[in-house]
Amino acid sequence: MSKLEYTPVEEIPKIHADLYRGFRTGKTKSIEYRKDQLLRLAYLLQDNKKRFEDALFADLGRPHPESVLLELDPLIGDIKEAYGSVKKWSATEKVRFSPKWFPMGPAIRKEPKGVALIIAPFNYPVLLLLGPFASAIAAGCAAVIKPSELTPATSALMGELVSKHLDQDVYRLVNGAIPETTKLLELPWNHILYTGNGRVAKLVSHAAAEHLTPLTLELGGKSAVIIDPKCDLPTAAKRILWGKVANAGQICLAPDYVLVPRQFQDTFVAALQRAFNEFFPVDPLKAPEGTMAHVISDAHVQRLKRLLDATRGTIAIGGQVDAARRFIVPTVVKDVKTDDALMSEEIFGPILPVLPVDSVDEAIEIVNARDHPLALYVFTTDAKFKAKVFDNTQSGAAIANEVVIHLGVDHLPFGGIGPSGSGYTTGKFGFDTFTHLRATIDNPSWVDKLVMSARYPPYDRGAIQKLNKMSKPTLPPRPGSRPSLLKRWPLWLILALVGLVTKVKWRSIVGSAA
Ligand code: NAD
Repeated sequence: MSKLEYTPVEEIPKIHADLYRGFRTGKTKSIEYRKDQLLRLAYLLQDNKKRFEDALFADLGRPHPESVLLELDPLIGDIKEAYGSVKKWSATEKVRFSPKWFPMGPAIRKEPKGVALIIAPFNYPVLLLLGPFASAIAAGCAAVIKPSELTPATSALMGELVSKHLDQDVYRLVNGAIPETTKLLELPWNHILYTGNGRVAKLVSHAAAEHLTPLTLELGGKSAVIIDPKCDLPTAAKRILWGKVANAGQICLAPDYVLVPRQFQDTFVAALQRAFNEFFPVDPLKAPEGTMAHVISDAHVQRLKRLLDATRGTIAIGGQVDAARRFIVPTVVKDVKTDDALMSEEIFGPILPVLPVDSVDEAIEIVNARDHPLALYVFTTDAKFKAKVFDNTQSGAAIANEVVIHLGVDHLPFGGIGPSGSGYTTGKFGFDTFTHLRATIDNPSWVDKLVMSARYPPYDRGAIQKLNKMSKPTLPPRPGSRPSLLKRWPLWLILALVGLVTKVKWRSIVGSAA
């Protein structure tokens, strides 16, 4: 296993200068070059899959199949999509025809923003670093990528492979913790993409503001689940519990808490218990390593234990903490109130509070009283219930009868709203994040001969009026006013046509009767 070595802080300004120099050579503008680097990145993953699985197991105790299913394969798929689409995505786009402007050939050039900084967290350390990195490569940017220090085995492996397989003139991986990230953030970048928690996001935002650097923030928060008793309960219970078991609930999209009708709470918890028994035929505390991921660090185990100790709810399932192994049994706490310790912060671990409510309106109020979540989940078979929840709330994503997996659904944007983040990643949306839309026209001289010369002094009222006539927008009728009958020409046209057809038909009937 590779050993993690932090990049010396004093080397960081040189890396930064090297990458700006590399970008200015223009090599990343070539689509063939981008495709070559993307393919190298995809093979870097495919050829070292087993090493990645082992590193993720070492860092997170994560079962191997989970790493393949939720991290490595979706990432390879995303890179393949970028590889196959980069030519189309990067093509200059002609704008919609406009009689006024078409002689100038208005178009949008899709250009790389420049040199990007990408900072990733620990929970999906490969996907969340190399996914945005692939988008930056596709967009033609140079990039420094900075993995989390909390996943030493995975970060060391990525450091080794990126330096071996990708062009070091324009792509560099910097390993380190707070001092290294702070140094990176002191420097000017053409775009920063930060994935992680809101507290650090504020530091990143301050640093970006110093240089007016554009910023994408992929954050987290408390993603709520609202349960309608009219749902497929066994499936709902399985999916929700899975959202807390996968990666030990350390997923930005994990269901954070559940709002359930008061009289339905015990039925719902009993369904969770049945799902738990199915998932863990052997007590998870005694099950072999690799049955379920563990919590990333001692500090996070202690944080989660503090929340559990402080709750005034009732532990209905699990509750055991093995601090030495950093393992927490998936835990369900019922009868939780909105002011409970478990509701004070994003849980980001295998603990699920269940809050009884008296109505769907109360559930909506609870969601709306908090920061907009990264995802809002509803389990129901009633379309009206679903519409009521989605139409009266805001969140990064609105998901019915599922949790978490929408991140992997092709062609959907991924991003939060407000404190759960801003900007988008994955697929074409990721490419757009690192792309500047550069407006362009090329105005031939003969256009002046037609009308445009009116703009030059000395001003000629007549010519200006002619120009104004061409470019003056005609507004629709004022709000509240009714368009005159004459202006309703489509209606008149339809009435006239109906009249004509009726007349012809009537004539033929009368004719044949005669
Ligand atoms: P983390 O501790 O690994 O930190 C993330 C990054 O920030 C790391 O690279 C780290 O080195 C850097 N960092 C930490 N402290 C810093 C400081 N003081 N100054 C500069 N850099 C610093 O991971 P985390 O932030 O605890 O990750 C968990 C959070 O990330 C959760 O809130 C989760 O919801 C969110 N998340 C969001 C997404 C998403 O795509 N929206 C995905 C995964 C995780």
